[in-house]
Amino acid sequence: MPGPFRFHKFSRDKFPDWRCPACLNETLVLIPESFIEKQSLQTGKISGEDWFEPYMYEGIFSCMLQCSRRDCRESVALIGESGYEEEWDDQMRARTYECVLAAKAFLPPLPLFTATEKCPTHIYDQLRKVSSLLPGHSSAAVNNLRIVLEMLMDELGVIRIYLEGKKNVRKEYTLNQRIQNYSGDHQDMKPGFLAMKWLGNVGSHSPLNVSEQDIDAACQILDHFLVRIFSPTVDHSAEIARLTRKYDPHFSGKP
Ligand SMILES: [Zn+2]
Repeated sequence: MPGPFRFHKFSRDKFPDWRCPACLNETLVLIPESFIEKQSLQTGKISGEDWFEPYMYEGIFSCMLQCSRRDCRESVALIGESGYEEEWDDQMRARTYECVLAAKAFLPPLPLFTATEKCPTHIYDQLRKVSSLLPGHSSAAVNNLRIVLEMLMDELGVIRIYLEGKKNVRKEYTLNQRIQNYSGDHQDMKPGFLAMKWLGNVGSHSPLNVSEQDIDAACQILDHFLVRIFSPTVDHSAEIARLTRKYDPHFSGKP
């Protein structure tokens, strides 16, 4: 399973089960003594005021994570933002504030996309870039998804450059044209490619914010498509033929 492509807020007591970049298991745990959290300068200035409320608190944190598997022990550095969110009891009478953390960057990046055997290295490197941007710079991550799509069109044999006119001026097809021109085996993916392209356009050129839910959906679609395109196909025809010969009572070759 890939992902998660969404980064929800969490508490210091309960870190999410993030996937280890080295062994790909969900085994990253906090090294408690590495955790440091500090309030911002602005919060320090206003926190003594009568009107200050905990939700106004702004802070930052850093810590180290480590894979808990004895044969791995990969280390990951994490930085993020801290704040307080209100919590109400079941009767909605008593209000408390809980310190919440939001991850903004992991180094090395978390392995969010599925590593497939036949995926070209430059595409996987670009997916790592998307993964590194997703926690803190989601619109930049969406912009980089477009680059993955361009690379994918290259891999699928869709022409990028053409010559125009008598002077043979070099021109480049737009990503939209390239997706439309794709004539290979995965025709059912075309609407998905186009949907991701439109999302990438908004992320790149528009002041509109792309929602986390939509980015998550686009990443899941892309991951699924890449697995389908780059997973080796297993040919079972010889085994199927052998089992058919052996067990099918209607097999014509059976005596
Ligand atoms: Zn590991």
